[in-house]
Amino acid sequence: MPGFDMHIHSIASDGSWSAQQIIDAAIAKGLDGIAITDHDTVTGIKAAIDYGKKCNFPVIPGIELSTKHDGRDIHVLGYWIDTDDIEADGRLRELREAREQRCYKIVARLDMLGMKLDADKIIASAGNCDSIGRPHIAKAMVESGYVDNIKEAFVKWLGQGMPAYVPRMKMTPYEAVKRITDAKGAAVLAHPGVGVPDYLIGRLVKQGIIGIEAFHPEHNIADEKKYLQLSHRLRIAATGGSDFHSAGMRCVGYRVAALSQVELLARLRQQKLAARD
Ligand SMILES: [Zn+2]
Ligand SMILES: [Zn+2]
Repeated sequence: MPGFDMHIHSIASDGSWSAQQIIDAAIAKGLDGIAITDHDTVTGIKAAIDYGKKCNFPVIPGIELSTKHDGRDIHVLGYWIDTDDIEADGRLRELREAREQRCYKIVARLDMLGMKLDADKIIASAGNCDSIGRPHIAKAMVESGYVDNIKEAFVKWLGQGMPAYVPRMKMTPYEAVKRITDAKGAAVLAHPGVGVPDYLIGRLVKQGIIGIEAFHPEHNIADEKKYLQLSHRLRIAATGGSDFHSAGMRCVGYRVAALSQVELLARLRQQKLAARD
């Protein structure tokens, strides 16, 4: 059962592959389809949809919104969103600009710690990437020889609680669900096993999430089982994806959502839209 890889980052955020490379890999792997879910941006969606059409390969327009709740990072995925709609109110742009500001702050901290980097160069190197993030800074640290690899940059300097960590301005998970739902999308809680308190899941369902990402590289078998059962109990979809960013770490299709669950998610979304009209 191939299924859909419902969680993939492209060069439009902090991934290193173009939509075309991702889709070629997904086809080679025999997947049923994919979703592109860049961080806080939908600028990579059009190219992905166009190339998907050319290859007759299903591509779901998606996004992954970063949010904060009680000091924890909570990620909310959105599928089949109206991309014009979600960009229209300027809130995503505001969040992306905050990312750039954060890049300058982190570089200033690294400077105090004896590591000289050029923030403008890092931002420029991100090219058409709309969401400059810590991976870009980590890459610059590797290139300048301050660390051996990206992982070391995070573990020693950039990760939460480390000397060059700077928190980011974020929306709440409730706001993220509302924005996705308002843009006609299906809101899904991303990788709940990575620090999402259980009580929050029920609240987010009330707010409008219609799926949870049960299958994710950072979930163990017990997590998968737990969230699969929870999704059944809550009568929402159990999705999955690789959270692919770049080659060498996780591959496209490493985790997937079953076709039946993608269909369930689409149905739940249609029901929600019908109830709204
Ligand atoms: Zn995430
Ligand atoms: Zn992700």
